[in-house]
Amino acid sequence: MFEELKSRPADSLLALIKAFQADERSGKIDLGVGVYRDGMGRTPVMRAVKAAEQFLLETQDSKKYLGPEGDLQYVRLLQPIIFGKAPSFAPRLVGIQTPGGSGALRLGAELIQAANPSAKVLLGKPSWPNHAPIFGAARLAVKEYAFVDLVSQQVKFDSVIEALSAASAGDVVLLHGCCHNPTGIDFTEEQWLEITKLVVAHKLVPFIDLAYQGLGDGLEQDAAPTRMILEAVDEALIAYSCDKNFGLYRERVGALYVMTRTSDEIGKAESNMAALARVNWSMPPDHGAAIVRTVLENTELSAMWRAELAEMCERVNGNRAALAAAAPDLAFISRQRGLFSNLSMSKDIAVALRARHGIYMADSGRMNLAGMQPADAGAIVAALRAEGCL
Ligand code: PMP
Repeated sequence: MFEELKSRPADSLLALIKAFQADERSGKIDLGVGVYRDGMGRTPVMRAVKAAEQFLLETQDSKKYLGPEGDLQYVRLLQPIIFGKAPSFAPRLVGIQTPGGSGALRLGAELIQAANPSAKVLLGKPSWPNHAPIFGAARLAVKEYAFVDLVSQQVKFDSVIEALSAASAGDVVLLHGCCHNPTGIDFTEEQWLEITKLVVAHKLVPFIDLAYQGLGDGLEQDAAPTRMILEAVDEALIAYSCDKNFGLYRERVGALYVMTRTSDEIGKAESNMAALARVNWSMPPDHGAAIVRTVLENTELSAMWRAELAEMCERVNGNRAALAAAAPDLAFISRQRGLFSNLSMSKDIAVALRARHGIYMADSGRMNLAGMQPADAGAIVAALRAEGCL
């Protein structure tokens, strides 16, 4: 039967990693794959994570099954970090552990499919390339609209308003909670307010993807739009990832939270989430969530984690400032947040930047600002100028 399969294209970002490794030039710069890098270009295991792993190694006395919901103490301890201390909607909120933010998105998509298969998912483009395929895999119709104009680096807010206004009651709006991937362009507070009004007026369901909390302006600031919209709406889904803000990537640490209309509906949502998890991965992998739980249960480790996350955030924003200072036409980069910025360029230019200058970014023009050092700003700007991008 397998002869019937059609080959699929390889992931272009993975090919970029290989090409970068094979490049022997000393001044090469890797702005490709979306992971945090420190001042030495490494993606380190965070100090609090190492300490928590040590603690787990010494104290964990069983690896028996936990169940499809995973580690519920982990799910609970994350709640105040994401939603604030005592939000009004807390009694209508239920969460389960998932394999990464990707697992949370897939589980949320399947929950929507189970509850309202005719719901459309509104997706602003460009977005994380896995968003549309995940919703498609759950057999939901995805309706795309233009979110950003890359030439002006501005939100196309008219297009956002138009898309939300044309949606039907029960349709789902995918929103990046902070640190938009791939553009780094987040809605302003006024725009979030406007979106909230539209979501309420048209009875839409926000599905918030929060994969970079703490890497934009700080944990509290990055959660503010999510909290604001949740205070206003009846129902919502939140796909959370600890893979970036705890540096746990391959451990696959996420959670799906669902906010129901009334607290009576929580049990239904919870049992469906567990049943869907059971047929997908049965139970989520434990180690990463156990690390996060251990960090959050311990005041000292929590403080250590928060401090290191703040350092990471500062470093990325420092790189943004360095690029903006090196070229006035890149000033927008210092106003954007998170790991990414997406320059408007053709694939040919992205290829030329690699071949002629050793500067690696995705063919789409997406660059990971954590991949550079402030001292690289001059070389990056010179290469962009040489290729006619500036
Ligand atoms: N959402 C967005 C916007 C992302 O960028 C990513 C990861 N690149 C994810 C979700 C998924 O994260 P995870 O690795 O935890 O599955």
